[in-house]
Amino acid sequence: MKPVFKYIYGPVPSWRLGSSLGIDLLSQEEKICNFDCVYCQLGPVKKHTIERKIYVPVEKIIEELEMLPQTHIDYITFSGRGEPTLAANLGEAIKAVKLVRKEPIAVLTNSSLMGTNKAREELALADFVVAKLDAYSPESLQEINRPANEVEFGSILDGIKKFRKSYGGKLALQVMFMENNKVYISKYVYLANYIKPDEIQVNTPLRPCGIKALTKEEIFKIKGNFIASCQGINVVCAYDERAEKSIVSLSDEETLKRRGKVK
Ligand code: SF4
Repeated sequence: MKPVFKYIYGPVPSWRLGSSLGIDLLSQEEKICNFDCVYCQLGPVKKHTIERKIYVPVEKIIEELEMLPQTHIDYITFSGRGEPTLAANLGEAIKAVKLVRKEPIAVLTNSSLMGTNKAREELALADFVVAKLDAYSPESLQEINRPANEVEFGSILDGIKKFRKSYGGKLALQVMFMENNKVYISKYVYLANYIKPDEIQVNTPLRPCGIKALTKEEIFKIKGNFIASCQGINVVCAYDERAEKSIVSLSDEETLKRRGKVK
């Protein structure tokens, strides 16, 4: 009988991570998030939460990983239907996965809890942290990410900066560019040079949502601005050419729930 996977999904071809096997430590029907980004492909948040709690016991994740068929994976990635740092067992899960799998571990976070020691400590267990930074000011945080009341721009920025100083793994800043923030490129360049990540990921909403994606030309222009102004930082973008690999997901249904589309 074919094994059923409820908490792991993909692998999916990712422009940031190659063949990425997802782990959803939240795995709820409704998205669990302290943001409600205007471009979120998971639909509107019903209720913001900033409470960290355990949604899926680590043993369940490990059971599924042990049933995984032989397949090529570049990264095991904590992501899914919401913000992974809201799972209070994120650190425990990263440690447990490392004991049973050899692939590097990535976490895609919205950075909202990076102002707290606990979230930074847990994220530091991963090999690659992709930290969202769509906002360049408190006002733009409200406009783009529509966070829970408790989430503050200053705390996010300080948190990412502190994390950069102490973290030995690879840190990427991911910025979603749309019509209303594309003209503020100089502010993002300033923030990138302040934080000094290893990589900048220039994104635009290509998955199904109500916000129009920027064109290839616009995104390559933004990428060029970062390359010209951020020395020593690798810059990639959502329109970069990449070798398409034929990747077969474990379950298209479970993958679609988390991504909005498979490929
Ligand atoms: S942080 Fe991610 S999951 Fe949360 S609202 Fe934004 S895009 Fe959606």
